[in-house]
Amino acid sequence: MTKPDIKKNKSTKTVFSESEATKIAEDLEFKSAEDILLWATTTFRQRLVLSTSFQATGMVILDMLSKISPDTRVMTLDTGRLPKATYDLIDQVQDQYDMQIEVQYPDSDNLKKIVAKHGINMFYKSYSLRLLCCEKRKLEPLSKALVDIDAWITGLTRQQGGTRTSTPKVTIDHKHNDILKINPIADWDNKMIWQYINDNKVPYNKLYDQGYTSIGCDPCTRPIEKNEDDRSGRWWWEKGMPKECGIHTFTKSK
Ligand code: SF4
Repeated sequence: MTKPDIKKNKSTKTVFSESEATKIAEDLEFKSAEDILLWATTTFRQRLVLSTSFQATGMVILDMLSKISPDTRVMTLDTGRLPKATYDLIDQVQDQYDMQIEVQYPDSDNLKKIVAKHGINMFYKSYSLRLLCCEKRKLEPLSKALVDIDAWITGLTRQQGGTRTSTPKVTIDHKHNDILKINPIADWDNKMIWQYINDNKVPYNKLYDQGYTSIGCDPCTRPIEKNEDDRSGRWWWEKGMPKECGIHTFTKSK
């Protein structure tokens, strides 16, 4: 397994150069998700966090971590607009797994200002207001949570399309202080994800049983229609815009 030449900067942060990160990604490309998580948890320990919105991909990784390294930090963003089914799943995970879920919240003063100015459902008014809402409810709390972290794990997969098609297993995240971003199931497809969930009796968001294929905030997510791609139910009223909130892209609100 890859043993990186770890360098520490003044704040004891573990840092990697682009070429080191590329080499790690190449070494891990054909390793199993479990092997990648084992490498990540032994390399970064408490300076590693799984960030999950409790979608199927995140649940697969959380279940693997519970077996490999149950003291790994798990974090989620409560935007304040999540579906009830997602809150129910968070409760279920807390009960079922011996893992503490760290819940991050938006800054209430920031929310008050944008809601007063643009309305509680501003996201339906324009693309830029939708991005502003995502920025205040998701991007800002995530950025704060990743400040003292060396690496984070996500459930991104290449089959989700768009900018995710070329997701590497490991990359430097320039959006978040150049920490390492680890995507252990980047090469998984839906069949593999649901096979794992069924084989391991992993709890999942019940909205999947109602035709949802990607689950975010309640007012911005709907089930997909026949022949639509998996992320079509996100911000469904927007035409021709990236199906991203900005966490995994460099998209900026105006
Ligand atoms: S998904 Fe919708 S409600 Fe959630 S943060 Fe983005 S715009 Fe706001």
